[in-house]
Amino acid sequence: MSEQNATLNAFPIFVKTDGKRVTIIGGGGEAYAKARLLAQSSARLLVIAEVIDPAFAKWGADHGIDFLRVPYHRDLLAGSVLVFAATGDLATDRRVAQDARALSIPVNVVDRPELCDFYTPAIVNRAPVAVAIGTEGTGPVLAQQIRARIDQMLSPALGRLATLAAHYREAVELRVPRGAARRRFWSSFFGGRIARSVENGALQDAALEVEKLLRDHEPVEPVGHVALVGAGPGAQDLLTLRAQRLLMEADVIVHDALVPESVVSVGRRDADRINAGKRKGCHSKSQEEINELLVSLAREGKRVVRLKCGDPMVFGRAGEELAALREAGIPHEIVPGITAACAAAADFRLPLTLRGVASSMVFTTGHDLKGNSLPDWARLAIEGATVAVYMGRSTAADVSERLAAAGLSPDTAVAVVENASLPNSRLFHGTLADLPALAGFDDLTGPVLTIIGDAVAGASFENSEPLARRRALASAMGEEAAA
Ligand code: SAH
Repeated sequence: MSEQNATLNAFPIFVKTDGKRVTIIGGGGEAYAKARLLAQSSARLLVIAEVIDPAFAKWGADHGIDFLRVPYHRDLLAGSVLVFAATGDLATDRRVAQDARALSIPVNVVDRPELCDFYTPAIVNRAPVAVAIGTEGTGPVLAQQIRARIDQMLSPALGRLATLAAHYREAVELRVPRGAARRRFWSSFFGGRIARSVENGALQDAALEVEKLLRDHEPVEPVGHVALVGAGPGAQDLLTLRAQRLLMEADVIVHDALVPESVVSVGRRDADRINAGKRKGCHSKSQEEINELLVSLAREGKRVVRLKCGDPMVFGRAGEELAALREAGIPHEIVPGITAACAAAADFRLPLTLRGVASSMVFTTGHDLKGNSLPDWARLAIEGATVAVYMGRSTAADVSERLAAAGLSPDTAVAVVENASLPNSRLFHGTLADLPALAGFDDLTGPVLTIIGDAVAGASFENSEPLARRRALASAMGEEAAA
């Protein structure tokens, strides 16, 4: 799960080893382990050591490995594409590293990350598909754990499926138009019945399915599609599986400013990304422009994911976008997401409904509290509903003043969450009377959600700061600045 743009100090690549020489210096356990790993490739393995562990020698003989029982000399490295130093003697390993580098051969020194040009990953092997897991030498055990999890996730038949794909590649290039149609072809190929047939060993069925899929995909009229997808509150792993799949299949991703990069980047790498903006105060595109954009992209035959934070149907202007799509006759679908109120409640361990305390919920922006008459839900709040207030600090303050004026007890509990679900989330709690102070918290720059009601009393305040304390601090600092 990438937290925003972490930087790798080692960039993963796959080195071609087919028929090439890879040399291991050393004949003990470490060298044996490396040899076993490398034997998963078609490299020509050469092991150089005066003394070879008998088990290693026996295994090597069974696996066609060349052994050279001579003292190490730099000339022996010539012609290798990779070198592994695993002698167990630091001075020799260091010399091997120097020699390899002088010959411009990348070298790996076992257990000495500082001497390595590259690290060896933990490998999930479904040749020709491979997943390589690296930790930049920091956590071999962690790498093994991840390896085990991925290994479990991937079908043992994946390699066979990939080989079948290679077999059909030319036919697909001839018969399925490049671009969206071809991506759709491969997406059905790897995701549907064909994969299942291969998994069950029914290769003939798989071949029939491929033929059918090829026919279905012949000269297709471009028909686009728009999915209004909920990105959830921000944490990448709170995306739904369906959202993830659609993001992987998208040609274009049109996202709101509030959707973090780490979530947008779940999308297909070469999908176009359009930031539709819309942060408070700076609308980079009008709603009208967004509607037109969605329609015109779909008319070009694109698969569009309209990625909205939280749930797309909650304060997401989905109504306008749906109307535009319906009117233009564009096929569309909705993928729900976790709305901010639910994420905020989770961060606070706060049940939104609580038996005997709160049996209804109000999700509001508070915008309709402007004017003289109270909306219906104000009465619900007074009768015990849990109220979640979306969109910022200033409305929360308005809401609290108006609710108090309408008769809600100033002691009613409130919980405030900035950046719910994210590692930089901040939690505050207090009472309705404390809430107006929120408008003065200038350092709350992330999205803020406020929950008001007796159910808040069931929350955990372990990681939360009292609003009153903050208000006192802020006013003390104000007085100091004024003095
Ligand atoms: N469709 C979204 C709401 C969009 S309105 C949803 O279902 O959540 C934008 C408001 O949502 C923000 O002003 C804030 O009140 C709330 N919000 C969105 N993400 C949030 C988060 N991670 N933490 C707190 N509030 C959030």
